[in-house]
Amino acid sequence: MSEKYKAKILLIEDESDVRESYEDMFNSLGFSVESAENGMDGLKKLAKSDFDLVVTDLHMPVMDGMETLRRIKKQNKDVEVIVITGFATIENAIKAMKQGAFDYITKPVSLEHVRIVLNKCAQQIKDRRENQELKEINSRLQELNDLKNKFITITNHELRTPMAVLKGYMELLGMEVEDHEELKEYYNVIMGTLSEMMDMVENMHDLSGFQKFASQNHKEVLDINELLNEVSKEIKIIFKNRNIRFKIDFYEEKALVKANRSLLKQGIRELVQNAFKFTKDGGSVTVCVKLDKVKGQVFVVVADSGIGIPNDKLKLIFEPFYEVQDVMHHFSSKTDFMGGGIGVGLSLAKEIIESASGEIVVESTPQEGSTFTVILPMQNVA
Ligand code: ADP
Repeated sequence: MSEKYKAKILLIEDESDVRESYEDMFNSLGFSVESAENGMDGLKKLAKSDFDLVVTDLHMPVMDGMETLRRIKKQNKDVEVIVITGFATIENAIKAMKQGAFDYITKPVSLEHVRIVLNKCAQQIKDRRENQELKEINSRLQELNDLKNKFITITNHELRTPMAVLKGYMELLGMEVEDHEELKEYYNVIMGTLSEMMDMVENMHDLSGFQKFASQNHKEVLDINELLNEVSKEIKIIFKNRNIRFKIDFYEEKALVKANRSLLKQGIRELVQNAFKFTKDGGSVTVCVKLDKVKGQVFVVVADSGIGIPNDKLKLIFEPFYEVQDVMHHFSSKTDFMGGGIGVGLSLAKEIIESASGEIVVESTPQEGSTFTVILPMQNVA
């Protein structure tokens, strides 16, 4: 159980011996107490110091408890008020609650009743404070997230132009180095690196909200088998140096979905690329197309025999920039085992698939492998 909140109480009671007995009672229950002799005195003390809770007698000279309650609530509505009343004047207690009092205690006051009412009130104050803190943390997180997005958008925008210029001039230089073996090799390295940088910027650009994968993008009826064939050709080139068994089980008929070809290709390629990246040489990657004609769904199942993903990270991997592994892997090439990435591939894939009215489901066992399944609505053959 969570620890009891030690609420700070202001006690307003005009009779000194009664006041002292209440103080002893509250102290014995673990609350800190300060006292005031009447409503006026109480309001002054309340203005000077932070109290969570006022316990006031209803029947008092100078200013009665009801008026004191009204003024306290006007001064600070977050301060809780508990009224003490004689049994004969219980209607007044009910009236006080209608005016915003938290609860009432009847005379003669019993320690057990006081304990229950004060603890209930302290718990409510604690809950409200924690809620308030959570709200503040949430809004701070939102601000930080907005700042991060703004930073990505600006950086991205600023990077695109110089990279396009660089690429343009490099292409011109390409013709000049055609006959120089050594220069041509340097040229290829620069172009390769530049194209990796451009890919990265492109992915960030997609994510940073420049391009929304609105559903109107997904208009073309296409066969997933064909699309996978294209993805497989690209993957074989990208991962030509890796020793991984790669198998695709196409569906025997057309598996039609409605989508934007290049976006869907990008989404599925991210999954297959990851399957290669997170599988050691000697392992396997299998892609399989299935149909559930009754439910009208097309499945693309990408399974690997790789490192797997811990259960508690399965949701996090779809967050932009989230990576399970530490940053050291960034020093290696993108196509190496666990090679560098920036953690946006899956968030992109998820946005793309969801914008085509589909979903991605993942199952994984650490050290055994992962299976990512894309589920899309099936289109009927015309
Ligand atoms: P990146 O691959 O660029 O790091 P992604 O968004 O594609 O970013 O993936 C996020 C993280 O999810 C990866 O860094 C990795 O930790 C984990 N992950 C994704 N796919 C797999 C997979 N097939 N096997 C194991 N881990 C994976």
